[in-house]
Amino acid sequence: MLNLREIHKPTTVEEALKLLQQPGTVAMAGGTELLARARRDVEAVVDLSALGLSYIRESSGAIAIGATTTLAALAESPILRAMANGVIAQAAHRSAGSVLRNQGTVVGTLITEPDGILAVVLLALDAQVTIRRNGLTTTAFADFLSTPESLLNNALVTEIRLPMANPRASLQTVARTPSDKPIVSACVAAQILRSAQNDTVARDVRIALGGVGEAAMRASAPEKALEGQSPNDPTIENAAHLAREGLSPRGDFRGSVEYRKEMAVVLTRRAVKELA
Ligand SMILES: Cc1cc2nc3c(=O)[nH]c(=O)nc-3n(C[C@H](O)[C@H](O)[C@H](O)COP(=O)(O)OP(=O)(O)OC[C@H]3O[C@@H](n4cnc5c(N)ncnc54)[C@H](O)[C@@H]3O)c2cc1C
Repeated sequence: MLNLREIHKPTTVEEALKLLQQPGTVAMAGGTELLARARRDVEAVVDLSALGLSYIRESSGAIAIGATTTLAALAESPILRAMANGVIAQAAHRSAGSVLRNQGTVVGTLITEPDGILAVVLLALDAQVTIRRNGLTTTAFADFLSTPESLLNNALVTEIRLPMANPRASLQTVARTPSDKPIVSACVAAQILRSAQNDTVARDVRIALGGVGEAAMRASAPEKALEGQSPNDPTIENAAHLAREGLSPRGDFRGSVEYRKEMAVVLTRRAVKELA
């Protein structure tokens, strides 16, 4: 931030929103990504750390996560560890090394890495996002992920909400090394119920993939193939193969287009098998 002249530290969301209307002014959460980028357009930052938006709590039938909650707090939260096989806590732990986890926040990470594993698990768990601009808007998570960063410049994301339903979930990733950023990731969430015939049946299946597009995305074809079905080997195989349907990832030095599509199949299969 080569032209930075002012740092504001408001104590209310209203005050922060007012400051963000000034040209050249952006929100700063943990600051890890913002400070690393030499942006010439930023003249003032609004530090969000005194807004009281660091919390994880149960509220009105949902789990509410404040926007400035750090990755470390997500990774250590007993509420999140007990929910959906702890996939949010796992994703937060794996999103960054320990120094960045203590500084980087949930919303800063989602804006910086909309196809990262935190985005993937929150999409699979049906998260919603609260955005404050003039009024209060609640946005579906997929819409938030595809919102360009520039549109959030004079708005504030204040909270992520998750339904209290506690599905089973599995997060699967492939990376060059265990601690490296995943190339492709898949999270499958579902209720696994017993039928009258004592079979297991998958309900409310949600599958999200990362590393196969600009942002994390739902995989609706395998979701439909699994919904209401007993997750036996042929059903899982059929669903997994559908995971590559409609994907047009961008290949790079970490993984070609074909590799990313094939990994979507492999990781979906692994995740559903783990749930079943
Ligand atoms: C060395 C390094 C290695 C990294 N490795 C990885 C990795 O392996 N995997 C990975 O996923 N990520 C990685 N990252 C990215 C890292 O996760 C992000 O830098 C960090 O999580 C961003 O969070 P923050 O709170 O510091 O965001 P900030 O830097 O404060 O903000 C990032 C952006 O989000 C906006 N913003 C933040 N909060 C809000 C809000 N509440 N409302 C509106 N706008 C907001 C800011 O204006 C800014 O544009 C790495 C970063 C660095 C510097």
